[in-house]
Amino acid sequence: MRDWDDAGRVRTTGAAFAFATETLRIPFRDPFRIARSEPDQAVTTVILNAFDADGRSGLGEAFPVRYYGETEATVEAVLPLLEEAVNELGSPPETLDEARAWLAGASELMDGAIGHHGGAKCGVDVGLHDLVAQRLGVPLYELLGTSPQIPPTDFSLGIDAPEVVRERAGRAAHFPALKIKVGGAADLETLEAVRAVYAGPIRVDANTGWRPEDAERLLPELERLGVELIEQPFAAHETAQLRWLQERSPLPIVADESAVTVMDLERLAGVVAGVNVKLTKCGGVGPALRMLRRARELGFKLMLGCMEETSVGIAAAATVASLADWVDLDGSLLLADDPFEGLTLDHTCRWQLTRVPGLGIARRPD
Ligand SMILES: [Mg+2]
Repeated sequence: MRDWDDAGRVRTTGAAFAFATETLRIPFRDPFRIARSEPDQAVTTVILNAFDADGRSGLGEAFPVRYYGETEATVEAVLPLLEEAVNELGSPPETLDEARAWLAGASELMDGAIGHHGGAKCGVDVGLHDLVAQRLGVPLYELLGTSPQIPPTDFSLGIDAPEVVRERAGRAAHFPALKIKVGGAADLETLEAVRAVYAGPIRVDANTGWRPEDAERLLPELERLGVELIEQPFAAHETAQLRWLQERSPLPIVADESAVTVMDLERLAGVVAGVNVKLTKCGGVGPALRMLRRARELGFKLMLGCMEETSVGIAAAATVASLADWVDLDGSLLLADDPFEGLTLDHTCRWQLTRVPGLGIARRPD
């Protein structure tokens, strides 16, 4: 049971934790279009506040992606189930090792309560990690046992007219790599236009938008233009097509839509060279860490990606970025107005992980 006190916070009665959500609609800085959806002017995201019985609170972000079966309404619908599931564990323990096992247990209970819903689970998982790290007085990366030294992030440009993408590439030229969304009407012209103003590595992401003949025609051109990798050229279930292209391609093929959770990795081993791990797909920062480790064991190159989260979701992802070969954590940078503070990008385009206990993110004062 939960109700509200005068300050608008959740008051828990008997339960170790209670959750409250806030849905935010945030405009993009530039219109953002990818191959498998219509152009979007704004994102909808659900911020989750996790409260413990002592009145502490943690922040998480449940970013709903329709492609993976989630909307704001499904997040709200499954949250009571997840809340009930994690409350089975009671209060978290007071040592690092026990807390890690406790958080992994919470994740297992959520997976047992309902399948899929990685975004909603991510909100709870990150909210609990923030809370537990604060209780222990350690930054989140220390709770996870990861390094704060992380690779720089790339920056993504959506599908648009080649001259528009070229102008945006010029503005983003200080990033050490650009990720160009393809699968539109003028992919080659777009990549030529970007290459004219940008000398660094170009990563292309077709978001399932190519047919095999598109890939075959474009592959020599991508090599000529110095493209570094090809992300998700074909539909998620087209494993044989992915294998066919990887066998022909000197560039790594990276599975994103095909690689949702750790359960997808074995099927993709020997098919593609890389996988893109995202907290929103796999259910949070704990599941992402386990998926990155398992993918490395299986010999994949690793990308750590994101949706268009605020700095709540990006800060959580940054805590496991030290495990990745390619970091694609630019979601909050694509937003016109990130309502949170505490996460900064340094001059080398690396997210700075601080010693602040927990996630280190707070609502920006109005
Ligand atoms: Mg992708």
